[in-house]
Amino acid sequence: SNTTRQPGRHFLQIPGPTPVPERIIQAMARTIIDHRSQAFADLSLRVINGIKTIFKTKQPVILYPSSGTGAWEAALVNTLSPGDKVLMVETGQFATLWKDMAAKIGLVPEFLPTDWRTGAEADAIESALKRDTAHEIKAVCVVHNETATGCRSWIQDIRKALDAAGHPALLMVDTISSLGCLDYRHDEWGVDVSISGSQKGLMLPPGLSFTAVSEKALEAAKSASLQRSYWSWQDMIVSNASGFFPFTPATGLLYGLETAITMLHEEGLDNVFARHERHGRATRAAVETWGLEVLCRDPKYYSPAVTSVLMPEGHNADTFRALVLENFNMSLGTGLNRLSGKVFRIGHLGDTNDLTIMGALSGVEMGLELAGVPHAKGGVTAAMAEITRATNQVRAAA
Ligand code: PLP
Repeated sequence: SNTTRQPGRHFLQIPGPTPVPERIIQAMARTIIDHRSQAFADLSLRVINGIKTIFKTKQPVILYPSSGTGAWEAALVNTLSPGDKVLMVETGQFATLWKDMAAKIGLVPEFLPTDWRTGAEADAIESALKRDTAHEIKAVCVVHNETATGCRSWIQDIRKALDAAGHPALLMVDTISSLGCLDYRHDEWGVDVSISGSQKGLMLPPGLSFTAVSEKALEAAKSASLQRSYWSWQDMIVSNASGFFPFTPATGLLYGLETAITMLHEEGLDNVFARHERHGRATRAAVETWGLEVLCRDPKYYSPAVTSVLMPEGHNADTFRALVLENFNMSLGTGLNRLSGKVFRIGHLGDTNDLTIMGALSGVEMGLELAGVPHAKGGVTAAMAEITRATNQVRAAA
């Protein structure tokens, strides 16, 4: 068509970056202050203390002006030495990228395979750790919410697996698409390094990473000999203690972060998590009613943040996504790596409400019709019923 404008709001239903609320955009629309001034130090101390309440930690949190991948690298190079073994679980594309990074920087990953349709199994981790009687494995690295597949993992169970094996490895967790969406407890769960990013549950633009580190991880950093300079935690922790950075920080994003943290607490973290659970359930109710298959094959691992949907044989998920974008101004997530063309992903994370989800699911149901994908009607109705049920439950409890 010859139109150059799509009216209304773009539906950004990818599993991050997520829509940035107007209030955060306003908070960032400020002039940049001197990052060596007391006003800046006050701001950064507020956000560093604030982000600790989201990780549920009292230990240091480091903020890099980087995407999540940078914080992954920092986690590895600060705590490990060349040739160290790391145990990782192949939950999907992001776990694979982290494993590839480990190999590239001189670590020796042991990769526990899965079919990309489930979370990390604590039992498999426990067995691998018990086999390692010489304690050559120095870190266990797990992705809390595998954004590529829509499968979550249970970090409490993985902590128990390390303890049951009596293994001293560090526990590192990627919370990039789970922090601010799923309950997370860095201290209580005994995680050594928790890594996250700004562009998902934190409702900010991409460009900031957050890393919570334990005493044990800081201790490991003293003898770890992988090369590091820009990524050195030590320099950050020393500067941050007084609210400063060893280099130019992302001042604008930090303004936004302060507002994002305030907004999460205004809603209440438990309400934020319940909202993500509700939207996950509504989305899966729609998918099941359509007669399509949720990629995650075990309900134990269903993600509250993103649902990957398998396309029926003979239909390409990207053709479907293009049709939805063109006709309904909605972006759905693409299938990554081996899932390319085979799945589309519905993001239900970040600043999302019941009607956003209903709009998104309507777009998917209409898109299936337009694309000629065989499906049963009524997915949207099933999702509405799920949301109404959950809403009534909350009203009855109030
Ligand atoms: N890990 C997970 C679970 C992710 O979802 C992503 C990005 O989508 C990454 C890592 C990579 O983070 P970034 O793209 O911010 O570097």
